[in-house]
Formats: sequence, structure tokens, C-alpha cells
Amino acid sequence: MKVSQTLQENWKDEVVSFSFEYFVPKTAQGVQNLLERIDRMKELHPLFVDVTWNAGGASRQPVTSTNELIGKAQKLYGLNTCMHLTCTGMSQEDVDLALSKAYNSGCRCILALRGDALVDDEKWDPSSEKFMYARDLVKYIRAKYDDHFEIGVAGYPEGHPEQHDSEILIDHLKEKLDAGASFVITQMFYDVENFLSWVDRCRVKGITAPIIPGIMPISNYASFVRRVKWCEIAVPKDIMCALDSVKDDEAAVRDLGVDIMANMCKTIMERGHIYHLHFYTMNLEKSTKSIMDHLGVTY
Ligand code: FAD
Repeated sequence: MKVSQTLQENWKDEVVSFSFEYFVPKTAQGVQNLLERIDRMKELHPLFVDVTWNAGGASRQPVTSTNELIGKAQKLYGLNTCMHLTCTGMSQEDVDLALSKAYNSGCRCILALRGDALVDDEKWDPSSEKFMYARDLVKYIRAKYDDHFEIGVAGYPEGHPEQHDSEILIDHLKEKLDAGASFVITQMFYDVENFLSWVDRCRVKGITAPIIPGIMPISNYASFVRRVKWCEIAVPKDIMCALDSVKDDEAAVRDLGVDIMANMCKTIMERGHIYHLHFYTMNLEKSTKSIMDHLGVTY
């Protein structure tokens, strides 16, 4: 299965599909819980599942690795997987090892990223001149593995903390696609109008690859506020006011969050003609499933 081809075919017939992102838990119990969750969420028929690579720049080694989780999702549960891989703290040997493990586990898709800075570092530093940008990783994977892996890359409708000029950012996105990537997953966002006009601007610049919106469910007020601040994401006034009005009632935030996100997804599909939703599950299933139920797309 090639994600980009499947999406291009599905979108002609308005067929809706999903993908679920997970991160590597810190404890053995967390890993066990996650595996059970991945198994249950398989019933929602994701087109693929993906696992982050040291997102947030943790300095401590987790109890398991992205490679291991990808291997289990692929082999144990028979899911199509997409492994995130970053340049952060990676030598060429590290990249080679990660790719060969992914290859051996049957994974056929890599989300190639530059990566977050390590938590203890003030800014992102390359550990190898070979891998300065995600573009370099895309080129490297293509050169080493030819077409074996399909490659996805990250896009930023709201800008990137290190580059606020959106036109330059779109040029950098195009470089990654020209280097051999074939689809884009976006950073989370809550301003759909901005997202739709950003997609139009990408198209004007010659980006033809499928652009997949990153959907971050809202299930807790405090973590929502923390996350949008950290990622520098704008929240439309009406959404912020509505959430503010119920912020002390956890169940009300969850219900409202489902409404907000389901409406967002509907607009993306109806106006953007984009029929794949990429859920940042945060290793939880309830909010993602509720949004899908609300959209009437669980079966
Ligand atoms: P790049 O595209 O390389 O861009 C990084 C910066 O360099 C940008 O400011 C860009 O404008 C600039 N740049 C790019 N090319 C050039 C050039 N040719 N010349 C000059 N400047 C250039 N992080 C993790 O650590 N692990 C993960 O698993 C992870 N998963 C993610 C998944 C998604 C869908 C998204 C949207 C982000 C994810 N991130 C993850 C975060 C990401 O690694 C950071 O946002 C990182 O700062 C940028 O990564 P990138 O791949 O977009 O980098």
C-alpha cells in the first residue's frame, strides 16, 4: 500500500480514511496498555498507524523503542505502519540501524523529520552535517532504499517556531517533496480557514502531494492550553471563549472538544475536499473514537 496513491484514489470518490499517531510510553505498563489500545483501535480500520521518534526531545531512553513498537504493530497486529525518524542526535550509523530495523519489520513508510531539540538544549543542534534538515533525511532514505519506503514529511499551516515567514516555509516543504517525499502531515491547528488557505497556497507553489490534516482532540483544558502555547498555535476566538466557559468541568470540555473537532473535520472534508484525518491520539482512544462516531464514520 502506498499512502499517497491510496489517498489520491480514495479522494476522487470521497472515501474517508484515518490514521492514528502514538508515542512511545515511558513505562513497561504504559507499553502494555498502548499495545492493547492499538489492538482495540485496529477495529476502527486505520489506513496506517505511526509512532513518533523521541518527540519532545526527551533525554532519557524509554523502556522500548519506536522500532520495536512499529515491529509489533506491523507483525503482531497486521497494521500498515509509518515510522517517524528524526535527525536529532542521530549519526549516520544510527539512521542506518533504525532504517534497517524498520525494513526487517516489514514497515514500508517513514515520516522523515528534522526533530525537536533535546529538552536540555536551548536550540536544535545538528549532530551530523549530513542531516541538517528533514530534506537531507528524505534524500538519504531515497538514495539508500530507492522506492522501498514511501516517505512523508511535516507541514506547518501556522508557521514554525524557527521560521515565521510562511512563504519560505512552503518553499522548504516543497524541497522535501522534491527530494522524494510523497505526502504531508500537518502540525495540529484549530483555525480551519487558515488551514484551507494554506493548502491553496501550497498548491499555487506547485505542491501536488496529498496534504493530511493533523487532528489533535481536545480532552483536557489545561493540556490543550499548554500544547497550543508550546506549538505556537492560534485558537480562533469563538473556540477559546467556548472552552473558557466550561474549563472547570472536565466532562463538558471533553464533550465540547468532540463537537469542535468534528465540525472542523466536516469543514475540511466539505470545503477542502480532503478525506483523510490524521489523529494525534496522545495514546488515548476515547476522544478520537468519539470524533469519528460524531462524524458517522465508524463501522
Ligand atoms: P525541516 O523541514 O527540516 O525544518 C526545520 C526548520 O529548518 C524550519 O524552520 C525550516 O523552515 C528550516 N529549513 C528547512 N529547510 C531549510 C533550508 N533548505 N534552508 C534553511 N532553512 C531550512 N519531532 C520529533 O522529535 N519526533 C517526532 O516523531 C515528530 N513527529 C512530528 C510529526 C508531525 C506531523 C509534525 C508536524 C511534527 C513532528 N515533530 C516531531 C516535530 C518536528 O520535528 C519539529 O517541528 C522540527 O522543529 C521540524 O521538523 P521538520 O521535519 O519540519 O524540519
